Amino acid sequence: MAKKKKKQIKVKITSENKCSFCEGAKCCHYVTQEIDTPRSRYEFEHIMWQVLHHGVEVFKDSDKTWYLLMNTSCSKLLPDGRCGIYETRPEICREYSNDWCEYDEPAEDHWLLHFKDYESINNYGKKRFKKWGKSS
Ligand code: SF4
Ligand code: SF4
Repeated sequence: MAKKKKKQIKVKITSENKCSFCEGAKCCHYVTQEIDTPRSRYEFEHIMWQVLHHGVEVFKDSDKTWYLLMNTSCSKLLPDGRCGIYETRPEICREYSNDWCEYDEPAEDHWLLHFKDYESINNYGKKRFKKWGKSS
């Protein structure tokens, strides 16, 4: 006897219900901090030191602002993806709009530069600086 096919109900994703479909709450797993635009070989080698650490990345956003990115989950994120301190969450969380967020598209798609490990910054440094990797 043929098996009955399960009826799939399509739910329209809106900004009101989007977060409930976002597995693990993607935006609660990192922090960013704006940093000065690096220019010298020393400053890029400093970035190399930073990204050598697990979970640390550096990127240049589409508006040319530079950021340190630390991949680390919020201590108040509940296992089901809800915020454990929803009523008293920080302003940055309250202001974060989900109109177009990581659920829709990875943020890095718009970054101009992205150093996520030793290899990425080393390759960039070799192209940009003649004395990259050499003592001054
Ligand atoms: S704001 Fe976006 S990334 Fe954050 S939990 Fe909601 S849908 Fe997910
Ligand atoms: S306070 Fe709540 S909304 Fe803000 S990052 Fe933590 S879990 Fe997410």
